[in-house]
Amino acid sequence: MGQWIDGTRVAEEIKGEVAREAARLRAAGVQPGLAVVLVGTNPASQVYVRSKVRTSRDLGMRSETFDLPAETTTEHLLSVVRDLNARAEIHGILVQVPLPPQVDARRVLESIDPSKDVDGFHPVNVGRLVAGTAALRPCTPAGIIEMLRRYGVPLRGSRAVVIGRSDIVGKPIALLLLHEDATVTICHSKTPDLREAARQADILVVAIGRPAVVDDSYVKEGAVVIDVGMNRVDSAERVRALFGDDPKRAEDLARKGYTLVGDVDAGRVLPKAKLLTPVPGGVGPLTIAMLMANTVRAAAAAARIPVFQ
Ligand code: NAP
Repeated sequence: MGQWIDGTRVAEEIKGEVAREAARLRAAGVQPGLAVVLVGTNPASQVYVRSKVRTSRDLGMRSETFDLPAETTTEHLLSVVRDLNARAEIHGILVQVPLPPQVDARRVLESIDPSKDVDGFHPVNVGRLVAGTAALRPCTPAGIIEMLRRYGVPLRGSRAVVIGRSDIVGKPIALLLLHEDATVTICHSKTPDLREAARQADILVVAIGRPAVVDDSYVKEGAVVIDVGMNRVDSAERVRALFGDDPKRAEDLARKGYTLVGDVDAGRVLPKAKLLTPVPGGVGPLTIAMLMANTVRAAAAAARIPVFQ
């Protein structure tokens, strides 16, 4: 029987380290500062932004939110980013996506100063990620590496399979695993015999965006399985099929109208895996912790103070 990876505990550990680094920087006269730009009233984005702002303040950073109306133009957003690029007390700039359709998202994201790009999505940082020299790495993939490291999972010489090739999860986690000397295979919707490919993995990372599609037939005995998926499932019947009479899931459905389900069918995979991340409480909490770590890193780099690991 496999063991759950406790992402919440790892995230708390990292946040503790970030708070200590932030205090060290404040003592040196630099308070790390994060600016979060939100356009429109997407409820999920509002929740994410509130949580990022609260966490950064809890960790002793300065935080500013820019709440812009849904009809904001590309030009206006570019001028907001330009101002933030120029302000020395702002070390991290995050423009919450998705942006409304009239906004040229690529132009806006590419206008962020790469040294303040705490999401790690700017082409300059993507290039550095490929070269293995990135200081600001995309948060979810960097969080996965931290989690594997802290659970003592050997990466060098391991065989890793990543299912999903998105720019924000699949490709960057594949690159980070490669830089850790894993032998990496990237799979996607056109991969023939996906099951057979996945069963080669010592470390299987699943980032597809479809609830519970990866079951035990995709998993080698004793593999470490990282489930990145976060899918809202609102069918009581589907939830019962996956989780039986789990009271927590029933409560989710009653209270929110949905429950969060990963891409992995955890009930079937846990008995076969060595380690598995739960959803929720696995990869999710790491993403925000790594955003905080990136902000402190950006502040330290701007002040030319040596950065923490
Ligand atoms: P995405 O951009 O939609 O990419 C999905 C990838 O999965 C694509 O490469 C697609 O292949 C592949 N795929 C889709 N169906 C497949 C199938 N049946 N078999 C094999 N491959 C398949 O998604 P994403 O942004 O990477 O996100 C993936 C999941 O992670 C989502 O549930 C998202 O909510 C979650 N997520 C979680 C966090 C977190 O903090 N925990 C952060 C980011 C994302 P093609 O390229 O061939 O279409």
